[in-house]
Amino acid sequence: MAIFNLGSVNIDRFYTLPRFPGPGETLSATGHKIGLGGKGANQSVAAAKAGAEVYHIGAIGKTDPWVRQRIETYGANCKFLREVDEPTGHAVIYVGPDGENMIVIDPGANVKQDSEFVIQAIDQAKSGDTLLLQNETNLQAHAATFALVKGMRVIYSAAPFSVEAVRGVIPDVSMVVMNAVEASQLCSEMGMTLDQIPVPQVLVTLGARGAMWRSNETGEVIEVTSPKVTAVDSTGAGDTFVGYVAAGLDFGMPIRTAMEWAVQAAALKVTRPGTADAIPTAADVKAFRG
Ligand code: ADP
Repeated sequence: MAIFNLGSVNIDRFYTLPRFPGPGETLSATGHKIGLGGKGANQSVAAAKAGAEVYHIGAIGKTDPWVRQRIETYGANCKFLREVDEPTGHAVIYVGPDGENMIVIDPGANVKQDSEFVIQAIDQAKSGDTLLLQNETNLQAHAATFALVKGMRVIYSAAPFSVEAVRGVIPDVSMVVMNAVEASQLCSEMGMTLDQIPVPQVLVTLGARGAMWRSNETGEVIEVTSPKVTAVDSTGAGDTFVGYVAAGLDFGMPIRTAMEWAVQAAALKVTRPGTADAIPTAADVKAFRG
């Protein structure tokens, strides 16, 4: 089977600073790094490193072909990544002396997805394939409706959180994945408990504690604990988890097995600095499990 991911691609620009600047202030950075980012790209990379056949659907600017090459290096197919006249989405990340950060995102090309192109890409999928979505593009609801009719599994990583986005997308998804903060925001904004969210399956990541899955159709609950690790950098942990769960389900694993695999992969990611580069492969996870 295969995973089609309609997702963001960002260029992450990291500026290391002695402290954060105040309004009107000019400050020199002590370091600058550029990398591949965006929740969509990270999840494609995670699922591809897990060994799944992944097609990334998205849009980047014409001036940044290295971004496509980088995603392909990690094993995701980019034939549905369009080059457009908008700038590639990018994130400006200020990193303070204690590792704290401030982030500004320009979504750029990520929110200029073309409806016809996206539907044609998803139309290449077969019944039983997976559509993966996050909240950093446009057209998620449209894509989800089409995919569900095709008989695809639709996994929606509802981040960054926006209640309007979630309301529009969840009627057509098989599973929504959120972290604990997003889950409590969603419940309070919708005035519902988790079991009342109108979606067949809810998966909540719980940081160092692991993850919890609930079927809102049968009431079944599965909890998986995370291995204990020394956390170095939790950036991309959630995306690693989502990519591995999507890959596991795509391989036909039961949800518990997919979650157990995903918490191992995400815990291993947390021990490594970085995002796409640091997302472990299936072989890394196997070695980590021992
Ligand atoms: P997000 O990164 O999206 O905020 P979480 O903090 O819930 O979401 O982390 C996602 C997943 O990453 C968790 O379900 C867990 O498997 C793993 N994880 C995160 N932090 C740790 C940690 N300190 N130790 C082990 N695993 C972690």
